[in-house]
Amino acid sequence: MKFSPEEIESLSLQFESASPQEIIDWAVKNFCPNLALSSSFQTQSVPLIHMVKEAKPDMRIFFLDTGMHFWDTLFFREHLEQIWNLNIVDLRPDEKWRMVLRHFGHDLPQTDPNLCCFIRKVQPMQKAMDGLGAWITGIRREQTENRAHAKILEYKRDGLLRIAPLLNWTLDEVLDYISANNLPRHPMPLSRYPSIGCKPCTRAIQLGENERAGRWDGQGKTECGLHTEMFNQDIRAEGFKFK
Ligand code: SF4
Repeated sequence: MKFSPEEIESLSLQFESASPQEIIDWAVKNFCPNLALSSSFQTQSVPLIHMVKEAKPDMRIFFLDTGMHFWDTLFFREHLEQIWNLNIVDLRPDEKWRMVLRHFGHDLPQTDPNLCCFIRKVQPMQKAMDGLGAWITGIRREQTENRAHAKILEYKRDGLLRIAPLLNWTLDEVLDYISANNLPRHPMPLSRYPSIGCKPCTRAIQLGENERAGRWDGQGKTECGLHTEMFNQDIRAEGFKFK
């Protein structure tokens, strides 16, 4: 179903007081089968995967296989797939980057993390989203300055609707949901790794640091690009060149 920008703005405001499950039910009713969830398969991801599988057990779940994950994340992805019979779709960089990644891929997280994220995350997600009507994501407002300004419903490139059912949840609410439903947790300790991405770009946080302080530390970067303007751009756009 297609909604006008005005309808989406109005619904997004209404959903500020709705539960995540109500938002997911609305998404399933209006967009299936052209609807997918993206997940990084860390502890924070578990409540949304759990809610989505309750609402629509065969929903596609996109996982970015960057080739740079912690073993623990791959193990956890495998574990959840098995116990919940999830419909996971692994997304990989386009074949055209094969030679670039073979020669420079190992160092790219340090030499040009924006290009690295574009090749390994943003472009595979752009391709996977082609033709979809809507995309469910687990971003929360308290995570970053950029996310603090997000809306629950937002149109992105090519009329794709991004749906963020947990946007208003705090990390404590995420953990309460996990405890209340006795859900599994990523093997890395949450107190040191509350936010987990690729191995070269994730460090343990210290007591009192923001939950995402360990992501791209010292790189001047807080987002991979899936939730910034980078998602609306292509590789020819200014700013995504080799350094
Ligand atoms: S998080 Fe790091 S390793 Fe992963 S794609 Fe981005 S820059 Fe590359």
